Amino acid sequence: MLYIVATPIGNLEDITLRAISVLGSADFILAEDTRVTRVLLDRYNIRVPVISYHQHSKIQKVDHIIDLLREDKKLALVTDAGTPGINDPGNFLVSKVLEALSDCKVVPIPGPNAAITALSVSGFPMDKFVYLGFPPHKKGRQTFFKRIGQIEETVVFYESKYRVMKALEELRGVSKIESRSVMIARELTKQFETIYRGTLDQIEMEMKANKNSTLGEFVVVISPRGKNNREES
Ligand code: SAM
Repeated sequence: MLYIVATPIGNLEDITLRAISVLGSADFILAEDTRVTRVLLDRYNIRVPVISYHQHSKIQKVDHIIDLLREDKKLALVTDAGTPGINDPGNFLVSKVLEALSDCKVVPIPGPNAAITALSVSGFPMDKFVYLGFPPHKKGRQTFFKRIGQIEETVVFYESKYRVMKALEELRGVSKIESRSVMIARELTKQFETIYRGTLDQIEMEMKANKNSTLGEFVVVISPRGKNNREES
């Protein structure tokens, strides 16, 4: 059995009872960064051997994991935060495991995810939304932002602290969504959780006024075209 276990995106209390029980009864926990996962495991007194598995892990590591599954070991995959596979390692391992062991049970243990957490407080129409992951750093960045301007539905993407202000400029200059409502969620579930809401101008002004506002982790949400914003429908 391979369990794909969602873990907190900040607040260590945001973990399900089932996740604690699965982690506690696993033979091995596969972790993106063992130091990050240790903090969580210590909090819940979980004493299970941890194996490192991350995006740069070699194929031999995948083979070793497949061997453990062949020996009927119960494995639990976690990443640094949120739901494994959503913009972090996970999918590759799942696909390789299913390729090698078609009868292996891959079991999802649901829980936090930063994009869904941000969307849940946006107030924007959520019958449909488009999730775009991270914008590329360089090549393809313009295209990414151009595409956002053409999307009708609510859009959500992740951005790092190094480029979040740049992203605001690009949403204005390249996406041309200055009349749409925007929400930026910073440090969700953590001590300095901040939700910025408004037009691009309003948010930019607010973030520039506070020098700490660009520290931490960010999710950007944009309202649909012509709805819940100042654009004519
Ligand atoms: N698998 C994760 C999930 O389920 O949300 C996402 C992993 S991705 C590598 C990490 C990115 O998610 C961060 O750079 C940030 O954009 C977003 N993120 C994660 N935790 C967050 C938090 N507490 N507040 C805001 N954004 C967060």
